[in-house]
Amino acid sequence: STKIERHLYDVVVIGAGGAGLRAAIEARLAGKRTAIISKSLFGKAHTVMAEGGAAAAMGNVNSNDNWMVHFRDTMRGGKFLNNFRMAELHAKEAPERIWELETYGALFDRTKDGKISQRNFGGHEYPRLAHVGDRTGLELIRTLQQKIVSLQQEDFAETGSYESRIRVFQETTITELMLDGDRVAGAFGYYRESGEFLLFETPAVVLATGGVGRSYKVTSNSWEYTGDGHALALRSGATLINMEFLQFHPTGMVWPPSVKGILVTESVRGDGGVLRNSDGKRFMFDYVPDVFRKQYAETEEEGDRWYTDPDNNRRPPELLPRDEVARAINSEVKAGRGSPAGGVFLDVSTRLPAEQIIKRLPSMHHQFKELADVDITKEPMEVGPTCHYVMGGVEVDPDTGAAFGTVQGLFAAGEVSGGMHGSNRLGGNSLSDLLVFGKRAGEHASAYVDTLGVRPKPAKIDVAAAAEVALAPLARSGGENPYTLQQDLQAVMGDLVGIIRRAGELTDALKRLQELKARVANVSADGGRLYNPGWHLALDLRNMLVVSECTAKAALEREESRGGHTREDFPVMSPEWRRVNLVCSLDEAGEVHLERKPVPRMRTELIDLFDRSELAKYMTDEELAEVEAE
Ligand code: FAD
Repeated sequence: STKIERHLYDVVVIGAGGAGLRAAIEARLAGKRTAIISKSLFGKAHTVMAEGGAAAAMGNVNSNDNWMVHFRDTMRGGKFLNNFRMAELHAKEAPERIWELETYGALFDRTKDGKISQRNFGGHEYPRLAHVGDRTGLELIRTLQQKIVSLQQEDFAETGSYESRIRVFQETTITELMLDGDRVAGAFGYYRESGEFLLFETPAVVLATGGVGRSYKVTSNSWEYTGDGHALALRSGATLINMEFLQFHPTGMVWPPSVKGILVTESVRGDGGVLRNSDGKRFMFDYVPDVFRKQYAETEEEGDRWYTDPDNNRRPPELLPRDEVARAINSEVKAGRGSPAGGVFLDVSTRLPAEQIIKRLPSMHHQFKELADVDITKEPMEVGPTCHYVMGGVEVDPDTGAAFGTVQGLFAAGEVSGGMHGSNRLGGNSLSDLLVFGKRAGEHASAYVDTLGVRPKPAKIDVAAAAEVALAPLARSGGENPYTLQQDLQAVMGDLVGIIRRAGELTDALKRLQELKARVANVSADGGRLYNPGWHLALDLRNMLVVSECTAKAALEREESRGGHTREDFPVMSPEWRRVNLVCSLDEAGEVHLERKPVPRMRTELIDLFDRSELAKYMTDEELAEVEAE
C-alpha cells in the first residue's frame, strides 16, 4: 500500500548523534515541536564510538591553553583551508559546551585537583581532550539522551504527554526532502522494520547524518554512513564544499580480515604508544614535514621526555596530524617494511605498565583480545590506514548552520557539514564541533521558523514521487544486486580515489562511476517491505554514488596535495590552491557540477595570531603583501 503516516513538527532533526541531539535540545528549549530521526537504534551513532575525547581549551592540565592556541592548532591541522569563522567559534565555545554537559550529568575523568582531565592528541599543542577513559562518545550520547528524557518529563508534567514537544523516531530512514518552491516543507522516509512510509511536514530541517565512509571497503564507519545527508542536501538545492578531503585514520586494525578497518584510537599514541616498522625502527622521525619541523622532537629521547615534561621538550612525531601519519605508514608498507598483515606495529606494551594500559585504554585492550587474540599489554598491535571521516560537507553559514545554495530552512551540523576542519580534522575536534554547531543549528532553525508567515507545504505530487522512487527497487525484478553494486563502488573508491591519487586513475574512477550510475538506476531488491536490508541498501546506493562523484570530481580538479587529499602527480601544497574551495551542486537532470569559490579571508586580529614566517608557508606573495600592509 502507499499509506503514508503524517506528522507535523516545527523542526525535524535528521540524525541522533551528538550534533542531532544537541540541535534537538536547543530547538525544544526554544519552544519548538521537535522530531529526532535516526536510521539506526536510538543511541547507536558514530558519536557513541568516539573514544579519545572532546577538544576544548579549558586549560585544566596546562594553564597556557586558551581559545587562540586551539584556533591556531585547528587552522594548522586543516592546512589553513578551514572556514576561519567556524574554527574561531569552535575554539571559543567548546569549553562552555563541555561544562554545560556536566550540568546535564556528564561525568568526565578528573585531574588530581578535581578538574575535568584533558589528554594529549595529535596536532594539539596542550593536553586538551576532555575524556572518559576511552569511551568518551558513550558518555556524551548518554548525557544528551538523559537531557532529552528530562525535557520530556517536564513536558509530561505540563501536557500529560512525554512526546508532546520532542519525539524520537528510531530505525527510520529519510530518503527525500520536500520543498515548497525553494523552502523546505518536509521530509519523507520509511520505518525500517515495517517498510511503511512517513511524511514529516516541517518548515525546518537540521541535517546531522554524519559521514560517508561506507563507500570505502576499509573503513572505521558502520553500515549507516552512506552520505545520506550530503545527498539530501544536494538534491534540495544546497551545495557541498571540499568533498575531496577525506580523513584516512592512520591506525585501523589490519588483522584478522573480517575486522579490517576497525579503529584503533589515537589515544594509544597520545598515551605513549609508538609506531615501528618491520626493522623495529621508529620511522615517524623520517616523515616530519617542513611546516611542522619546529614543533616536533628530532630524537627519540626528546620525544620520550615530552610525555613527562612537555614544557621543555617537543612532542614525538607519532603525534603529527593524522594525514601525515597515514601517508607515512602507507609509504613504509609500500617500501616493504610493513608488518606480516600489511600494516605497521603500534606498541604500547613496552611503554606503559600493564595496569595503566588496562585503565587508560580499556576498550582497546578488550577489542584486540576479543577480535585478534592480541594482548596489547604484552605485544604490539598491527595497524594501517582506514577511511574515517569526511572533512567536506554541506556548505553552511558559519554562525547559523544554514545551508548555502538555493534552499531555505535547511541547516546542517556535525560531520555532514563542511568547512570547519579545512583539509584535515584534528582528533577530538569532532566531538566539540558537534556540540558547538549542533547548538547553533538548533537555535537558528528555531529562529528561522519564527520568521515564517504562511508555512510551506509539501506538494502531493512530490510526496507521490518520493514514494515511487522508494518502491522502485521492489517493483523491479532481475535487476542489479545492491550488495554487488556496493562492492563495486567500494572497489572504485578504494582503488582509484583512495589515500594516494593520480589524474589518470581519477578520470577512470569518474568513468566507472557513470557506469555504476546506470546500473544503480536498475537496482532491484528481492522480498517485500518488512525489514528488508537489501531494499534499504538499494535506496542508499544512489546517495553513495552522487557523493562519491563529488569526491572524485573535486579530487581530480584540485591539483595539489593538502591534508586529506594527496596527489602523487602534484605532491606539494600550493598557496594558490589554498585560496580555493571546490563547491559541488546538482542540476535538475541529476548532473554533478563543480565550481571554484574563494576561501573567505581571515580577519586581521586572527591573522595576527600567527608568525609571519608561518603564514609564508601557506600564503601567496600577494596575500602576504596584503597582510604586511595592514
Ligand atoms: P553521527 O554520530 O555519525 O550520527 C549520525 C546520525 O544520523 C545517526 O543517528 C544515523 O542513524 C543518522 N542518519 C544517517 N542517515 C540517516 C537517514 N537517511 N535518515 C535518518 N537518520 C540518518 N571524534 C572525536 O572528536 N574524538 C574521538 O575520539 C573520535 N573517535 C571516533 C571513533 C570512531 C570509531 C569513529 C567512527 C569516529 C570517531 N570520531 C571521533 C569522529 C566522530 O565520532 C564523528 O565524526 C561524530 O560522532 C559525528 O557525529 P554526528 O553527530 O555528526 O553524526
